[in-house]
Amino acid sequence: MGVFETLGSEYEEVAFFHDPPTGLRAIVAIHSTLLGPSLGGTRFYPFGSEEEALRDVLRLARGMTYKAAAAGLDLGGGKAVIIGDPKRIKTEELLRAYGRFVDSLGGRYITAEDVGTSRDDMDVIRRETGWVTGVSEALGGSGDPSPVTAFGVFNGLKAAAQAALGGRDLGDLHVVVQGVGKVGYALVKHLTQAGARVTVADVDVDNLARVVSEFGVETAEPEKAHAIECDILAPCALGGLIRDDTLPELKCRVVAGAANNQLARPEHGDALHQLGILYAPDFVINAGGIINVADELLGYDQQRAMARVERIYHTLREVFRRSETEGIPPSRAAEMLAEERMRSVSRVRLIWVPGQGGSTISR
Ligand code: NAD
Repeated sequence: MGVFETLGSEYEEVAFFHDPPTGLRAIVAIHSTLLGPSLGGTRFYPFGSEEEALRDVLRLARGMTYKAAAAGLDLGGGKAVIIGDPKRIKTEELLRAYGRFVDSLGGRYITAEDVGTSRDDMDVIRRETGWVTGVSEALGGSGDPSPVTAFGVFNGLKAAAQAALGGRDLGDLHVVVQGVGKVGYALVKHLTQAGARVTVADVDVDNLARVVSEFGVETAEPEKAHAIECDILAPCALGGLIRDDTLPELKCRVVAGAANNQLARPEHGDALHQLGILYAPDFVINAGGIINVADELLGYDQQRAMARVERIYHTLREVFRRSETEGIPPSRAAEMLAEERMRSVSRVRLIWVPGQGGSTISR
């Protein structure tokens, strides 16, 4: 299949960066700049093939467009991948070469950390380009986004409880948290503080032991966590928990968590709806991280960022309301909301302003 055929009608730009002396092979995909510059993390991963890397970066960039649009940000969607094992090939010179390539895009793509990259890596990239977020606090950054993401998810759970559990207080509910890494840990903390009954599962025994000793929560086998009878199942590990084999085993009323790509396929959102299980679309509920790093573009202010993250509650209520009135699954309703915002807000940039050329980040 030809490259342009692969891109379909959606993607604006795909850049391939190659620096043989450092071994850098990177792809940046800009899905949309309708609402502003594209922002998304850099995934550093030993992809099985270049095709796999391209597929992943395209899929992830599209997801970022919807996430930023639904979160009410003046940002588009983009993503980057660096091909290779970070443990083997990540060096200062490779990251700096990458930083120079990112700089060459002139701000059409702004990077951040993702799987295989860290805040320290962003600090190195910052030495070559200003188009990077998630740098350390000393450089004006916002620090680890995970606690902020968890705060957004916690607010999302409240919205889901309002919509599907008769407005019951989270303190009266049983929540299963699958994956207690950085975000899951912080979510368990919020939930136990609120008085909820929490069951956790993780394949990493150290992460599991930490939440058990700190919060005294119950545990479950990782492969059986999705099948536990509970009010809310919160996927906070890797994607794809909701799929053909797990769907019939679910015994929850709500699926709402931090993980990206919780639905193995979009149709699984329809299947949840048919089963009467309320699904909080992942790209809406887990937007705390991007809202937090996006605030760096204005000069980071934690209070302002947290206030924006809290609004995830209202965005989700709107998604659920829309889903109910139009009789469509929340996953579809969330996409519609994002697409409507892209159409309506991008249109105002057609209004001619003297001396103003292209789009800017509104402050
Ligand atoms: P993390 O790597 O710190 O934690 C993931 C945890 O899941 C680990 O403890 C891991 O052992 C566990 N896990 C892996 N496979 C599992 C399985 N089969 N069953 C049970 N547990 C399993 O990652 P994180 O930063 O906490 O992110 C969690 C999820 O949220 C990811 O999908 C990530 O993409 C998404 N997310 C994170 C952020 C953020 O700010 N960190 C923002 C948006 C979305």
